[in-house]
Amino acid sequence: MFRRLLPRHFDLIDAIDTHFKAQVEQQWGAQAKHIWPRVAIRYQHQVRMANLCVVVCFAVNGVAALHSRLVVSDLFPEYHQLWPQKFHNVTNGITPRRWLKQCNPALSALLDETVGTAWATDLPVLRALEPYADDSAFRARYRAIKQQNKENLTNWVSQNLGIKLDPHSLFDVQIKRLHEYKRQHLNLLHILSLYRQLRNNPHLDIVPRVFLFWAKAAPGYVLAKNIIYAINSVAEKINRDKHVRDRLRILFIPDYRVSLAERIIPAADVSEQIFTAGKEASGTGNMKLALNSALTVGTLDGANVEMAQEVGEENLFIFGHTVDQVKSVLSQGYDPGVVLKQVPQLTPLLDELGSGAFSHGDKTAFAPLLKSLLDKGDPYLLLADFASYCQAQQRVDALYRETEEWTRRCVLNTARMGFFSADRAIHDYQTRIWHARC
Ligand SMILES: *Cc1c(COP(=O)(O)O)cnc(C)c1O
Repeated sequence: MFRRLLPRHFDLIDAIDTHFKAQVEQQWGAQAKHIWPRVAIRYQHQVRMANLCVVVCFAVNGVAALHSRLVVSDLFPEYHQLWPQKFHNVTNGITPRRWLKQCNPALSALLDETVGTAWATDLPVLRALEPYADDSAFRARYRAIKQQNKENLTNWVSQNLGIKLDPHSLFDVQIKRLHEYKRQHLNLLHILSLYRQLRNNPHLDIVPRVFLFWAKAAPGYVLAKNIIYAINSVAEKINRDKHVRDRLRILFIPDYRVSLAERIIPAADVSEQIFTAGKEASGTGNMKLALNSALTVGTLDGANVEMAQEVGEENLFIFGHTVDQVKSVLSQGYDPGVVLKQVPQLTPLLDELGSGAFSHGDKTAFAPLLKSLLDKGDPYLLLADFASYCQAQQRVDALYRETEEWTRRCVLNTARMGFFSADRAIHDYQTRIWHARC
């Protein structure tokens, strides 16, 4: 099809491929025939776009340190052997003008007053905030701003969606495109587990939480749409259950977009960054939320790794398999059935999803979701990370009750996010790759 539709492009790509093949033969000699199937641009009736990119481009970079290492070690080791100097890391960043100054004017004003106004164009200046984490009067002002932001969001939700939230609940936020690797359905399993515990023990003392979701799925991604349907269905049932809805609320906001992200992020207490390790190249939502002082629940993946280094691992809630552990589990032949035996809480949750209890009796409503976890081998390791995730959420619950310590960590998160400015990222591109004359 490519040859028929784009004959001239095809000839050019073919010429590039032939020229490159000579280079591969020169480098690897008799071994080249083993290398070629991995590095060829044209191979078995395919045109491989990523390979074409790496061969013709001037530079290749990952967007977080871990990702850049994986690009070299797992994805393109042969190209790295040919052209080691072509590969770089540039960790992503976010702009503090939109994601703090514009979206969180109250916090911005407090920062201006406390450390001066330079932070908006020189984010590491926020380090000067660190000592104020131990100042209880400052913490009280910090908390009041978060509370006001939560009330602003509560009012917006009430006016636009007709839903009443309690702004004194913990606001737990997962906002990002819907994808299996981002694991919105792991969050859902934790909610189902809380719901079950609350029904079994009506006086269970948990911190009241609002779980805020916000996501779009690609039009043809059936399973992703099924996960959205499952979250909405569970939300409908739980939000109507008068025995739990004062402690457990779920809101799936429609029509994911930047202008609404600007309202939600300043109001978040907890930031869900729970991807399968090795799958999230960087993430930037994690940075936006932490800069606005949400505490991260996350795996050691993408920029979460560097955030833990900058902010201090003790100031995030890290859980789950690491990249190396994921590799080792998969190479040993991962069997979710074994996890179901080891973690007995899981089976009743999955059974209930398949029972029609959340879908007006329709037992097939969440079949794609259940099938991916049970019959298709749980490729994103949700079940393997479930117990560790629930433990991390219990640590969240316990710390949130220690109001002063919680706030102290919020201040430290904001103070130590300076590295994640887009200004630094652009500077890195300029000095490491572009060398543009300005
Ligand atoms: C920041 C942002 C993203 C990226 O979010 P991740 O959590 O890093 O996936 C996607 N969409 C919008 C609208 C954003 O503002």
